[in-house]
Amino acid sequence: MPPRQLRQECLWERVLPPAPPASRLGASLRTQVCVIGGGITGLCAAIRLLERGYQVVLLDAHRVGHGGSGRNVGLVNAGTWIRPDDVQATLGNAVGERLNRVLGEAPARVFEIIARHGIDCQAHNEGTLHMAHNAHGEADLQARHDQWRRRGANIELLTGARCREYCGTDKVSLALLDHRAGTINPMAYTRGLAAAVERLGGALYQDTPVTGLQREGDAWRVTTADGSVEADKVVIATGAYTEGDWNSVKNDYFRGYYLQVASVPLGGPAAEAILPRARGSWDTRTVLSSIRRDDDGRLLLGSMGRLDNKPAWFVRSWADRIQRHYFPELGTVEWECHWTGAIDFTPDHLMRLYEPAPGLIAVTGYNGRGNTTGTVLGAAMADFVIDDCVADLPMPFSRSRPVSVPGLRTGLYEAGFSLYHAGQCLRVVL
Ligand SMILES: Cc1cc2nc3c(=O)[nH]c(=O)nc-3n(C[C@H](O)[C@H](O)[C@H](O)COP(=O)(O)OP(=O)(O)OC[C@H]3O[C@@H](n4cnc5c(N)ncnc54)[C@H](O)[C@@H]3O)c2cc1C
Repeated sequence: MPPRQLRQECLWERVLPPAPPASRLGASLRTQVCVIGGGITGLCAAIRLLERGYQVVLLDAHRVGHGGSGRNVGLVNAGTWIRPDDVQATLGNAVGERLNRVLGEAPARVFEIIARHGIDCQAHNEGTLHMAHNAHGEADLQARHDQWRRRGANIELLTGARCREYCGTDKVSLALLDHRAGTINPMAYTRGLAAAVERLGGALYQDTPVTGLQREGDAWRVTTADGSVEADKVVIATGAYTEGDWNSVKNDYFRGYYLQVASVPLGGPAAEAILPRARGSWDTRTVLSSIRRDDDGRLLLGSMGRLDNKPAWFVRSWADRIQRHYFPELGTVEWECHWTGAIDFTPDHLMRLYEPAPGLIAVTGYNGRGNTTGTVLGAAMADFVIDDCVADLPMPFSRSRPVSVPGLRTGLYEAGFSLYHAGQCLRVVL
């Protein structure tokens, strides 16, 4: 039989019922806080504001989940991508430790909000696995383990039979099991947050790109094509998907891409042996591979770079190569769909929190870790809007630090990732 057509579409959206009808802004409104961006950050900011009795209008240029929030791998990770000692070295002891603590506890905040708002999103809090691919990777995991254990984190190193059982492959000799972490369907989480915003009385407008932002007396005027919002305060949460020139957030990151390929639902003992407990994992390669399962038994593979500009045979060939390396006993796997999303990278791999002017607060630079970071930073920005207390923020405000030649960086990264994936397909590297 010829392979089925490989569709370019995001699995997370396809497995959900159609999104509820959306309203566009077509009037001039007055509110206390206007939130721009309907991803996890903006929605969590809106929820906290509404729960604390504030009026909120939230605007998104497209539909809720259009950005990274609807397309990501769904790993609910603790901490940043870089090791906690490196966070401390970059930000200083006090700030670094505060950020490590807040983001170390962040998965618990995600699972709490899911439970509080009854969000049905394939949530599993059984940990994630960081898998060593060679001796260098083993040393990295050992260091991460030691650094987090010193901070009291619930993580453990797996070796031998336990490692094989958790990972479902004998290609991994050491894995770091993070009991704090887990997995979700990120689009279902995002839509669940949006439903909570509306239930709490927030006004949510979609397909409404913001085109301007001006100070008018003591307030801010947020302009859109067919309307505007006058607000005392504005939260900007547009991340890697920032559109328009009305804010300068996008000067402070460069775009990188992340691809995913999903199989058809798989059954049988070979499929069930893959990641049977902690369902989300990634390896220690510089151009990493992520591996996870969904609730229907699909195998999802991911990596840095884009596939939306590559032919279907390349996508299949890359996915086959990774699957056959880690899980050869599956035999031939049919791949159902693939999709790509954009990430806001910063040169030091840490996020930026800004107060560009009184009454404006913005965040960006999650570097590919936004399910947890967006959840806690959204709420923290809301608290700042209300309490005006810098000491309560997970990190201090940054000055704008524009990234030099962002387009060139994006291009060079992408060329490197494409070459690496081609090398994987040709079996030159893995
Ligand atoms: C493929 C991929 C895999 C990833 N995997 C993981 C993972 O496993 N775990 C993890 O924690 N993180 C992961 N990330 C990162 C994570 O998805 C993001 O950091 C996070 O979703 C960012 O959320 P956000 O709300 O800040 O921004 P987004 O979700 O990007 O939302 C921004 C919103 O702003 C809107 N917007 C932009 N401009 C305007 C405008 N002018 N007017 C109005 N609205 C506007 C956009 O339409 C968009 O909906 C991944 C990212 C990608 C792309």
